[in-house]
Amino acid sequence: MCGIVGYVGDGNVYKILINGLYRLEYRGYDSAGIALGSAGKINIFKTVGKVDNLVNFCKDKDTDCTFGIAHTRWATHGAPSDCNAHPHYSEDGNIALVHNGTIENYKLLKEALEEHGCRFHTQTDTEVLVQLVSWIRHENQCTLVEAVREALKQVIGAYAIAVIAKDDPDTIVAARKQSPLVIGIGDNETFLASDATPFVEYTKDVVYLEDEQIALIRKGKPLKIFNFENEESTINVKKLELSISQLEKGGYPHFMLKEIFEQPNTLLDCIRGRVVQGGKKVVLNGVNDNKDKFLNARRIIIVACGTSWHASLIGKRLLQDMCRIPVEVEYASEFRYSNPVITPDDVVIAISQSGETADTLAAVEIARKAGAFVYGISNVVGSSIPRNTDSGTYIHVGPEIGVASTKAFTGQVMVLTLLALTIAELKGTMTQLEIEEMGQWILRIPKIVEEVLGLAPQIERLSLIYTYARNFLYLGRGYSYPVALEGALKLKEISYIHAEGYPAAEMKHGPIALIDAEMPSVIIAPNDHLYEKIVSNVQQVKSRGGSTIAIVTKGDTEISSIANHVLEVPKVPEMLSPIITTIPLQLLSYYIAINKEKDVDMPRNLAKSVTVE
Ligand code: GLU
Repeated sequence: MCGIVGYVGDGNVYKILINGLYRLEYRGYDSAGIALGSAGKINIFKTVGKVDNLVNFCKDKDTDCTFGIAHTRWATHGAPSDCNAHPHYSEDGNIALVHNGTIENYKLLKEALEEHGCRFHTQTDTEVLVQLVSWIRHENQCTLVEAVREALKQVIGAYAIAVIAKDDPDTIVAARKQSPLVIGIGDNETFLASDATPFVEYTKDVVYLEDEQIALIRKGKPLKIFNFENEESTINVKKLELSISQLEKGGYPHFMLKEIFEQPNTLLDCIRGRVVQGGKKVVLNGVNDNKDKFLNARRIIIVACGTSWHASLIGKRLLQDMCRIPVEVEYASEFRYSNPVITPDDVVIAISQSGETADTLAAVEIARKAGAFVYGISNVVGSSIPRNTDSGTYIHVGPEIGVASTKAFTGQVMVLTLLALTIAELKGTMTQLEIEEMGQWILRIPKIVEEVLGLAPQIERLSLIYTYARNFLYLGRGYSYPVALEGALKLKEISYIHAEGYPAAEMKHGPIALIDAEMPSVIIAPNDHLYEKIVSNVQQVKSRGGSTIAIVTKGDTEISSIANHVLEVPKVPEMLSPIITTIPLQLLSYYIAINKEKDVDMPRNLAKSVTVE
């Protein structure tokens, strides 16, 4: 969601900013813009649509400059348009600003500024920020940092901002609250971005800006960071673990396909060093180091959004089955406003791929304030969730660029499996033998996933039959129910076909009315303890003329004889089945979207990292 890039240094500013925007494209956006500065001059160019449009627009423009900021916008206030695109600028043209987030009290601020004679030209909440900074600067005759600080003190909302001024060349002032910003410190050059991907080839030295910190970035001068009380903060430089090759497609036509096919390796990375002694032992340091918290947990609450929420539903079953701890799963966006009852005996697990999901971060905050022990599961090292939780685990699946999550989902489910096993061992709710058996199965999972990926040609052919279906049902029971939800979400996200995930048995309480020859059902039916039950659900669909695609365990005869199409996956223990059965669903969505010529890596309206409420 929205990307910010900034640069001060001797490099080619325009090129660095534009390449940075391309790198941030995966986050999702609807328009792009750039402000290019040099002493006494700022040129602003912005267009609706892709970064390519911006580049075309800039072809015959003056892009000569010594510093600058750039932005991809994901509109929250005001339609995507050239005018509403960022950067926004002050009435006198002196100051330019880009913003990620939302300003909740923008109306009040706008009215006050209008009374002082300010005029507004866009429908965005952001414009209020730049006008406010400019007005404060005029009124108080102060520096840009001081004006930004005073302005932000009046703001309610979430933001990451970068500000430049004509009369303060080679300087960027940046600040954040709830939206991410990271600074890259190079040789005589400084980068600023929403995540480190725009500058990974230039420097590995990064500083993560904290909430309510203001950074002063100047050419040839050391970085300075202040809090809102104007006290200087110590600068904590971290080493980035990200390489340029991780950000490329590696011969695949799309990031999504690459990421689906990477799963044997990403799962291997995810379990590396965590399932040890040939599968005899599972170690998750975050859990082992906080043993008492988990052993004494009265209940576990998992908060997440989207795909991570589906992984959480699987986590709930795993934790209940293996550890016998009551678990609740909440949408972070609902949880935060539900006046939740949380006690210090609760453990709250927050799951977010990016580690920056605004609603999940807010839920973390609430849980911490209530005294609960908060455990984070995320993919992005150094992101806000790991920084704001008591402990946690990285899924270690590498950067996920495709907006529709694939490898992060299986990584999350794997980490939740390891988490449950670690707690089960500590609690003694599973025998050593059971743990060893699971540990050994886990070690085999990457190979099994590789085998399942061999279904790709079959799924590609199958996809041709269903490309033009207008609706889909995805049905599953037990561990396969969240898989059905995730399968339906994947299809919706990238092919724009309406799809519903449902518990297979619930279907007869409503959705069964929708079934006819035009409405295919995807049924996730591995050979588990609910197999016989789901056989009758397949019958119910069939007898109403619906066509069925079933994901079954190799050697299945019963469902195979009823369903129109079957995709066979190897047998694994029930608790590990979601990781296996989800793979064919990822591929099915991918191929259907490709047949429909959709932009699978950047589906319309969607954002990768959802940093607004
Ligand atoms: N709220 C701002 C707008 O609608 C910023 C959105 C974003 O984060 O891109 O322009």
